[in-house]
Amino acid sequence: MKLFEQSTIAAAATPPVPSAIGIVRLSGPDALPLLQRVFHPAARRGFRPRRVTFGGIYDTDGTRIDEGLAVYMPGPGSYTGEDTAEIYCHGSPGIVALLLDTLYAAGARPAAPGEYTRRAFLNGRMDLSQSEAVIDLIESETRASAANAAAQLTGVLGKKLTAARDGLIAVASQLSAMIDFPEEEVPELQYEELVSTLRRISGELSALRESYARGAYLKNGVPCAITGRPNVGKSSLLNAFAGFDRAIVTDIPGTTRDVLEQTVVADGVKFSFFDTAGIRETADTVERIGVERAVDAMRRAALVLAVFDSSMELTDEDAFVLERAADYPAVCVLNKADLPRKIDESRLAAVFDRIYPVSAATGEGVPELLAAIATDFAADRAVGESLVTNPRQADALSRAADAVARAVEAAELLTADVVCTDVEQAAEILGEITGQTASEDIISQIFSRFCVGK
Ligand code: GDP
Repeated sequence: MKLFEQSTIAAAATPPVPSAIGIVRLSGPDALPLLQRVFHPAARRGFRPRRVTFGGIYDTDGTRIDEGLAVYMPGPGSYTGEDTAEIYCHGSPGIVALLLDTLYAAGARPAAPGEYTRRAFLNGRMDLSQSEAVIDLIESETRASAANAAAQLTGVLGKKLTAARDGLIAVASQLSAMIDFPEEEVPELQYEELVSTLRRISGELSALRESYARGAYLKNGVPCAITGRPNVGKSSLLNAFAGFDRAIVTDIPGTTRDVLEQTVVADGVKFSFFDTAGIRETADTVERIGVERAVDAMRRAALVLAVFDSSMELTDEDAFVLERAADYPAVCVLNKADLPRKIDESRLAAVFDRIYPVSAATGEGVPELLAAIATDFAADRAVGESLVTNPRQADALSRAADAVARAVEAAELLTADVVCTDVEQAAEILGEITGQTASEDIISQIFSRFCVGK
């Protein structure tokens, strides 16, 4: 068991706000002596591994500052693989700070972001994909994304990739033997077996890579573009979805020039709404860039909400939007339902299967609209499977799948040396995901996204 380094780290695992309980964590060789310094068990038998103990909490001067619970978990069977301890005090930011100061004065070092999980990874307690699942789990906003991260945390992805990587390494070593001893006749059967192994791995990697489309929705939200000509109420609709004033609302057309994003969870589905510049032909350079971005947001969206002002007749600018929206999966939102209706719905019904009357101003119809589109994407809430949600992993999977596909092609042309290079490359890339071949830079980047105390 490799120890990351000899220092013992300490940090709060709970945010510095007044709360019921504050948790301080320790990890490293001095976890137990440091714990004993600040926490005195009430019962004479003292600390027993993995058993919760009640006692008093003391500062550097030996003043009792609080009482609470503590647990000591010796390595290597702990989260980090090292000796660890947790102290549960009252969730007062002052007490937590005092407790930490006492620990630092006694020789502990403040933990860096993600350092506990980084030590867990370096000590072989989890692979890199599991470490990334930890942060996904912490950041998950829906049950579905939490369930997916929890599945990743059990190591499903790492196990699949390790099996694929082992398969590739075995193929590469057999191929190397063929290249090194060309005079030895290779049984055709054996060669075919190698190729079929490569085909199977190629299929598995591609399937994992493809799961990223749904995985990204799960994690980042289903991208929905709110489009329409200026002043139909796009920004008001975004604010109605958000429940607060996210976007500036004015009656001056063309105020939203950039794309604003807001995530909203509706019926367990996370959406990422983009409020875009009003789409129209314009001579204003800045507004035109906004319009281009709006069209780009439509292109990238899973769903377009095409907004029209129902209190007015359709304008040429609306027709411009109508034309564009027809190219994408879109629903029609008839805003300003609180005002008398003047719009000619038949022109809209010719383009859209679904039309939702709403009033962004009063909120009328907004929950129904959200519920309807949440139903569209409910399947993406499917729990139990493990989708790739991480762009780094998706990118590595693409590169690995490409390399294996190239290897299969080369194998069909019977160029064993080319096959071997591609297979080795694919194995190397898969190691980037599990951490076996990830560079120090990649590892640092991943852990820098963590919070202190995790
Ligand atoms: P955008 O340019 O499409 O983003 O439109 P805004 O959200 O900025 O709204 C333009 C104007 O329409 C503002 O004066 C809003 O107060 C008004 N507005 C937006 N939604 C409604 C609505 O549902 N009912 C009424 N009566 N006015 C609305």
